[in-house]
Amino acid sequence: MATIGDSMPGAPASEAPKYLWMDGELVPWGQATIHASRLGWSTMGAVFEGIKAYWSEAEGELYGWQFAEHYRRFADSMRLQRMRPAFTPEQLVAASADLLRANDCREDTYVRPLAWHADATWFGHLEDSRTGIVITTAPFTSVLGSGKVVRACVSSWTRVGDNQLSPRIKCISNYQNSRMALLEATLDGYDQPILLNSAGRVTEGPASCLFIVRDGVAITPSLTSGVLESITRTAVLRFCHDELGVPTQEREVDRTELYIADEIFFCGTGAEITPVAAVDHYRVGTGGVGPLTGRIERLFHDVVRGRHAGYAFWRRPIYTTARARAAL
Ligand SMILES: *Cc1c(COP(=O)(O)O)cnc(C)c1O
Repeated sequence: MATIGDSMPGAPASEAPKYLWMDGELVPWGQATIHASRLGWSTMGAVFEGIKAYWSEAEGELYGWQFAEHYRRFADSMRLQRMRPAFTPEQLVAASADLLRANDCREDTYVRPLAWHADATWFGHLEDSRTGIVITTAPFTSVLGSGKVVRACVSSWTRVGDNQLSPRIKCISNYQNSRMALLEATLDGYDQPILLNSAGRVTEGPASCLFIVRDGVAITPSLTSGVLESITRTAVLRFCHDELGVPTQEREVDRTELYIADEIFFCGTGAEITPVAAVDHYRVGTGGVGPLTGRIERLFHDVVRGRHAGYAFWRRPIYTTARARAAL
């Protein structure tokens, strides 16, 4: 029989983490329950983050990746939903590090915060509603360096716009748009959809941003094209500029540019750097990992695992900091 402990998506009960973090406390996984009557409207406005921590076997260290940036965006998402969290981004960063240590995470690990109007059942009474926050951890397998490529299509679904369901909010409800596009794409035999906005310009994938490479320039749709303000996108732009000497452009991208691009890749916390082999059966480059995509992927991989000494401000060592503090 299924128990509450079985309920971690994708993992049997034996692999469920020991704790999750809920409203300021580490709570044993199986005891973190919510009443069934809360299901439904209460999560209509829920916002979330997907954050990763990368394990370094060489150093025996887990590196939280861009925690501060993610919790700043989480705060923006909560603000846009008129939530009033009881915790600052800094407190949530510290809570995430505590949770990773409490669960003794020593492998690549997802950190997933979720915030919702805990007492609201419909539109009203937001001013009285507590903002509930839960953070969970789960292992993941990195695609970095795996050579994995995906086949994409242009979706028949239009990406939501800023004046409808703003893509700037990392909101559960926006994922209905992503979900319809992803379901259609996979039923049609593709791996990932690429969504266009109402003007017919390229936006992003269902849960990741997108770069195309043309004549040595890395091009990504502008932040006003209808995309989530991806933290990975910002990191890639910075890597191109600071490390790789690759010119970048943030601008509107036409659909047909996808069909003549030299390289295309998705980027995001979940997607990491995922090369695209074809769009609507137009092969991209040679259909493998493009040369610039490969360079970006290797650099990204080295930086997140601490093999590249730079960008230390984006890595939060989970165990060393605690050991150093304990030694004081
Ligand atoms: C989370 C997300 C991304 C990627 O953002 P990162 O900050 O790079 O993880 C891109 N698009 C959508 C729709 C997302 O939800």
